[in-house]
Amino acid sequence: DANVFLFVRIARIGSRFVLLLAEDRTEAYRLDEVRRDFVANISHELKTPIGAVGLLADALQAASDDPEQVRRFAKRLTKESDRLARITKEIIELSRLQAADALAKPELVDIDDVVAAAIDHNRVAADKLGISIVSGGDSGAQVYGDEPILVAALQNLITNAVQYSPERSRIGVGVTNSDGIVEISVTDQGAGIAEEDLERVFERFYRVDPARARNTGGTGLGLSIVKHVVQNHGGDVRVWSQVGRGSTFTIRLPEASSATLASMSESAAA
Ligand code: ADP
Repeated sequence: DANVFLFVRIARIGSRFVLLLAEDRTEAYRLDEVRRDFVANISHELKTPIGAVGLLADALQAASDDPEQVRRFAKRLTKESDRLARITKEIIELSRLQAADALAKPELVDIDDVVAAAIDHNRVAADKLGISIVSGGDSGAQVYGDEPILVAALQNLITNAVQYSPERSRIGVGVTNSDGIVEISVTDQGAGIAEEDLERVFERFYRVDPARARNTGGTGLGLSIVKHVVQNHGGDVRVWSQVGRGSTFTIRLPEASSATLASMSESAAA
């Protein structure tokens, strides 16, 4: 296991020499390693678009007397720089969320408003593909948290559902509220995710099929952002999926009560 530091020492106990093995996996070391991995990932992810921007700029200069080529290179340059902007934005968002263990000022949030806003943000993209997004009736569910951040998280799940679904399919967004847990599910009829990838999709920069995923303009950061948002709200996110049938992502949050507010402000103060 590359994450474990092994210390080997020869010690003398009485008249015997023994070999001591010690393992160090302190929290500080682990966090440091997570940070180093993150920076390495970022450098790797940025290398490709930055390289492409450089090459395209050269090509653009060389093609200056061919308007058709200039137009083509300029278009690709815009696409690469959009991608760079998107990766940068998501990296900043993720590191901000990772830095905050808890929410500074949780407020009462109506989940039905979160659902409506997240669907609205995806409406245009879905309409273009003839995909319908269907949501159940009002649930009346409430949680404590940060509304814009919750909207952004749910929006990510719906954007994925749209991106990884065939044209004219259906996406369902449902809310249930029982036993003090609010569940928001996004179900699609898309390609689904193979079992060996399921656990990994929440990892930073992880994409099931990088070549295909790149075509969708994805960065592989969306689901890790969702995971951090939900964790900061005291909840979790789960996925169920079957290849060829579709996927369901479920965000689970503690229902708003005086107890959840107390425990949230406690962890915010800690
Ligand atoms: P990306 O920016 O690539 O969409 P995410 O972190 O949002 O990154 O998702 C990670 C990977 O999980 C995606 O690249 C895709 O392969 C897979 N994935 C996410 N959501 C779905 C879905 N609804 N259906 C099928 N595959 C999905």
